[in-house]
Amino acid sequence: MAITALTFDLDDTLWNNRPVLERAETGHYQWLSDALAAASPDATNAFMTDYPLSTYQQHRLDVARRFPLKRGDFTWIRERALFELVETYGLPRLRARLWAAHAIAHFLDLRHDLTPYPEVVAMLDTLRRSYRIAAITNGNADLKRLDLAEHFSVMIAAGELHAPKPDPRAFLAALARLRARPSQALHVGDSWREDVLPAQRLGMQVAWIDAKGEGPGVPLPGVHRLTHVRELPTLLTSLTP
Ligand SMILES: [Mg+2]
Repeated sequence: MAITALTFDLDDTLWNNRPVLERAETGHYQWLSDALAAASPDATNAFMTDYPLSTYQQHRLDVARRFPLKRGDFTWIRERALFELVETYGLPRLRARLWAAHAIAHFLDLRHDLTPYPEVVAMLDTLRRSYRIAAITNGNADLKRLDLAEHFSVMIAAGELHAPKPDPRAFLAALARLRARPSQALHVGDSWREDVLPAQRLGMQVAWIDAKGEGPGVPLPGVHRLTHVRELPTLLTSLTP
């Protein structure tokens, strides 16, 4: 059956996400520590001295365990962890909440300061003339804050659905809104567990961006292995009857 709809993962599919996350991770935490020091010059220790970045990262895992229903909502988990650490640092509850919210706003600014691979904009521009296109992300990138937004008619933030990939519900929601059956759709993503397996089990075709060399060596029916998203147009041409 001809492919009429495409769904895209974002992080590590349309851009290299690692440097983006590293900058955002250290940047917002350092900002918070500096801002707290400026606001309370009498404090004995800087916030980051009492709670180094590794403590914050560990505390996020603890928050995720205590709030299992929020497990896919990474932004919520971050904010909760920051709030608890700032309160333990000695600030009143309400002020701790405000500082955590400020730090998260800063994190999200840094998180959206990213550059897609150079081929991506022109490629999506061409593809959207022939396909209906959705984005499905587990991450906290908000497409509306990116210049890429105009290329997607549907945007699914799976974490906020409380059904992060590999849960099939994000894919089903995207397909419903694209008015496509699984057999008419192709998913593009980098993760074997979160992208390839769930989409393939639903009966979608999959373009697997296998930059990391994960997954088994044996090919799965309907899964097409690429090394970069720039190879997608050629694959789509080869799949066109
Ligand atoms: Mg990804």
